[in-house]
Amino acid sequence: MQNFSPMKAQIISIGNELLIGDTINTNASWMGEFLNDLGVEVVRIHTISDDKDLIKSTISLSMKESDLVITTGGLGPTHDDITKTTIAELFGVEMIKDEMVEDHIRELFKSRNIPFSRSNVWQAYVPENCEILFNRAGTAPGMWFHENGCYLAVLPGVPYEMKYLMKKGVAEKLRALSDSIGYIHTQYLKVAGIGESTLSDEVLGDELKDFLNDHVSLAFLPSFGQIKLRVTGKGASKEEAQQRAGSLIGYIKEKAGDFLFAEDKDKPLAEAVGDLLRMQNKTIATAESCTGGLIASTITDIAGSSDYLLGGIVSYSNEVKIKELGVSAADIESYGAVSKSVALQMAKGVAEKLGTDIGLSATGVAGPGGGTDEKPVGTVWIGFYSHGQHFAVRALFSKDRLVNKERTTVTALEITRRILSGIDGLPYSLKKETI
Ligand code: ATP
Ligand code: MG
Repeated sequence: MQNFSPMKAQIISIGNELLIGDTINTNASWMGEFLNDLGVEVVRIHTISDDKDLIKSTISLSMKESDLVITTGGLGPTHDDITKTTIAELFGVEMIKDEMVEDHIRELFKSRNIPFSRSNVWQAYVPENCEILFNRAGTAPGMWFHENGCYLAVLPGVPYEMKYLMKKGVAEKLRALSDSIGYIHTQYLKVAGIGESTLSDEVLGDELKDFLNDHVSLAFLPSFGQIKLRVTGKGASKEEAQQRAGSLIGYIKEKAGDFLFAEDKDKPLAEAVGDLLRMQNKTIATAESCTGGLIASTITDIAGSSDYLLGGIVSYSNEVKIKELGVSAADIESYGAVSKSVALQMAKGVAEKLGTDIGLSATGVAGPGGGTDEKPVGTVWIGFYSHGQHFAVRALFSKDRLVNKERTTVTALEITRRILSGIDGLPYSLKKETI
């Protein structure tokens, strides 16, 4: 096997606002994920104030320890933006004006009808040993240095400018370097309705270990009833990295195929459900109590969802359940609003009222109050109705109100996905209960 070692990187987020909790450091997390996808291993993230000595010492230490260092922040035209002059001092070089950057800034100001001032010219000055990463998304240019065997990228703090320069400037630079540093191929698989330990111990099983080694790794990234599986393959070439990741991906698909709803990191469960509804020419409506409309809202996060979502009824009170969905008042009296009977009637009621193929319902004790021994906080009944299927499931989620809303939504969508895909088992091995 050919040896290689992926590039090691450190991120330095500069800005007083990040340290006092004024701004959340979303840049660093976004960059960590982005670099990982490019095959660069981030080993440390620093968050520091706009302090000259601290900027110098952090950059020089990081450059000694790593192959790549990326800073964000402090490139603006105001007095507290000191990053680039500090870097020029650190390297012992002069600041020089870049004519192209100045022209770009002048044009930008002209097109926005803003007067051009002296502090704006200053934005076109950069340390003389850098290469410009041209910033079409803003005024402060990005900078690329190669000193003492380490690459240094200096980027603006504004998130969309940073992202633009990561995608345009930094990614292109790194791609050009890939041949010498080796490749990482990353792919995500997304599953829902199964716990992390069940997935790993029971579904993937002991054989999983045979696929994991120095070149192939698997990470579980769970959130609210879904798990993102990140498969990483490392190799001397792109093909080798892909092929190594591919063997594990194949195994996961074989074992956990039924749970898999997406092979793309950015594809939400609601989109997988939407694709199926559209393909099968089916429509859906929701009747929601404890989720307060979150299921419908999540479905409408997907562009084009009007093809299949006809509407929803937020039946929070008993009165609305009775009047709008035709739930029997006597059943609410006998079984309670959080009950199988009510979930079944809500699902059927909304499908009939709105004339859809599928009705989906949820009624539960979201918390924090309102729990009893028989129906503790987190108890949720989810109902499903279609021509040929009418059932409800009882789930027990958490003590946290918002988590319960989120998990109910994911579970309801995953039930729908499995039914539409003709998969037998329900999420979390929940049992179908009928009248
Ligand atoms: P500009 O040219 O706009 O002044 P800059 O490089 O000086 O850019 P900053 O002044 O440090 O950037 O930050 C600009 C904006 O970006 C601020 O609103 C700040 O809160 C935000 N920002 C800075 N750093 C981060 C970060 N690490 N994560 C998220 N937002 C950030
Ligand atoms: Mg600033």
